[in-house]
Amino acid sequence: MSCSKPQPLYQEQLLALGALVDISIWGVEPEPAQQAADAVTEDFNRIHRTWHAWQESDLTRINAQLPGGAPFPVQADLMPLIGRAQELSRQSEGLFNPAIGKLIGLWGFHGDEPKGPPPDAAAVAALVAQHPNMDDLRLGRSRCPASRDTSRTLRYRSSLCVENNLLQSRNPAVQLDFGAIGQGYAVDVAIEHLRQLGIENAIVNASGDIRVIGKHGARPWRIGIRNPRGPGILASIEMQGDESIVTSGTYERFFEYDGQRYHHIIDPRSGYPARGLVSVTVLHSDAVTADAASTALLVAGLKDWRRIASNMGVKQAMLIDEQGTVYMDAVLARRMHFEIAPAPKVEITDTL
Ligand code: AMP
Ligand code: MG
Repeated sequence: MSCSKPQPLYQEQLLALGALVDISIWGVEPEPAQQAADAVTEDFNRIHRTWHAWQESDLTRINAQLPGGAPFPVQADLMPLIGRAQELSRQSEGLFNPAIGKLIGLWGFHGDEPKGPPPDAAAVAALVAQHPNMDDLRLGRSRCPASRDTSRTLRYRSSLCVENNLLQSRNPAVQLDFGAIGQGYAVDVAIEHLRQLGIENAIVNASGDIRVIGKHGARPWRIGIRNPRGPGILASIEMQGDESIVTSGTYERFFEYDGQRYHHIIDPRSGYPARGLVSVTVLHSDAVTADAASTALLVAGLKDWRRIASNMGVKQAMLIDEQGTVYMDAVLARRMHFEIAPAPKVEITDTL
């Protein structure tokens, strides 16, 4: 009997980005596992401080400058996510639209406890009519003037001219809100960091936005998917190596007013909470794509989800409608195990 035997599973929890984040690391001594979990905790805290949509952050400073219409400098490390969001938004045909921050704020979701009343219909319509979208943004770089003499150029550049990353909006209604991809992005950053630290087997789970690497000992990591229409787990799935699984649900943030329920995923075309689906789960290699897609498919609904998934390169998705019927592609259907009895009604569509 030894007290110093290493625990194969190291677990840590933290609160960031409005989510309860679980970090699980397998097969590493407790001390390096704890150091790795601390490093990831710092990643989450940094991303929280950078991208928060309503508490003071780099993003709120960007949002304060966008309506001015002039180009302004933005820290270099913020540009890749803005560019990626622009690309994902285009692929989703604008259903994932992080430029609708004003609408999300108007609905009261820029606060810790949204409670209504719902906004005035005219105010919603006025914002929708301005059609804020990611293509209103121009991402660029300022250039220092060139000189033939290299040594002088270097001196000139370092003393007088700083090249900047620039951002500009041609639409004053654009306000950025990365709530739909913030957790997925943080999960990707965390897994990348764990890998750099030599961790090969781990799960990072930010309130249902999950990425896994490796295994849990001899067996694969098994993930539970929350039942959107009641307590507990609806289904479980075994993860295969490096893979992400992200769920968007109308139950995550909502308020009730006058007997009506209003949730936080807004259809940019109507300005109102998306109707028809209660949750969407997407499997993909990276979590940020899965996160953008889960939001986009929830907005797309049963009529359009297959086209939007295919545009976004998503091959595995599960949708649940208000009646509790489950819709899945054939590949995911083979992997999903329902944990409730009786099992829900399932409609399987062709491979995406
Ligand atoms: P998720 O839980 O990943 O679906 O993200 C939902 C969050 O994304 C909301 O709380 C809003 O902050 C934001 N959001 C709501 N509707 C949209 C939309 N259509 N496109 C992009 N972001 C949205
Ligand atoms: Mg999302």
